[in-house]
Amino acid sequence: MRQHFSYPGKDNCQMASGQLSRAEALECSRCRHACHVMLYCDTKSQLFGRFPIRHIILMQMRFDGLLGFPGGLVNPSEETLEAGLSRELLEELGVAVPISVEDHVDSRFAPASSPSRSSRLILHFYVKKMEEEQIREVERAAVSTATDYGQEVLGTVRVPLYTMKAGGGLAPFLSHSFIGSARSQLVDSLLRFNLVTPEDLHKALAHSLKIHTQNAEDLHGALALTEARKRF
Ligand code: AMP
Ligand code: MN
Repeated sequence: MRQHFSYPGKDNCQMASGQLSRAEALECSRCRHACHVMLYCDTKSQLFGRFPIRHIILMQMRFDGLLGFPGGLVNPSEETLEAGLSRELLEELGVAVPISVEDHVDSRFAPASSPSRSSRLILHFYVKKMEEEQIREVERAAVSTATDYGQEVLGTVRVPLYTMKAGGGLAPFLSHSFIGSARSQLVDSLLRFNLVTPEDLHKALAHSLKIHTQNAEDLHGALALTEARKRF
């Protein structure tokens, strides 16, 4: 039987930004849903005994070479968004970290990749604060028991929040390539949960843009290397 298709259109629930409430998002029975989470904790540890790490924030290097948050596709007709996200975390991190509705931060439509509205993807984003020992346990499990390790997930990474004298730290991290809206989700969460001051984040992002230009030059250099070796 054809399912009733209730699509929250621009004129009613969907806000200009494409943002939706969790409940509105679930009304769209034909949409696909993906849930991802930023797991983090406070820490007193320091890098080289000098740079306070302040917070351990987990992201991952994905199979496609892009940085993203752990999580994946969830079918709300089979499981709740949060249970589905925990299942994904078990696969990707080796620990079924429990996620609750209170951890939900944002739901929005993924930028349309095709004009077909019926299979549009809704991205649900969660943030969960944990104890440092729990985060360290997740890091250990991610490389030892996670079934997706080495396949969908190439590694768990920490977001460096510090800035070193030569500019290393947050700025180069932010200049990497991210899946979909993961960079905005990270920046938004850093601000929302007061993990970095808006001033420091602004400086880091401005520096990231400069790094981007250097990266482009570097890539041109690498491309030239392959040009020289091409046999056609
Ligand atoms: P995954 O199984 O983790 O790759 O996620 C399911 C879907 O969500 C895929 O189509 C991804 O391309 C997409 N996706 C994953 N993370 C993000 C993100 N942070 N922003 C936008 N799309 C994402
Ligand atoms: Mn995933």
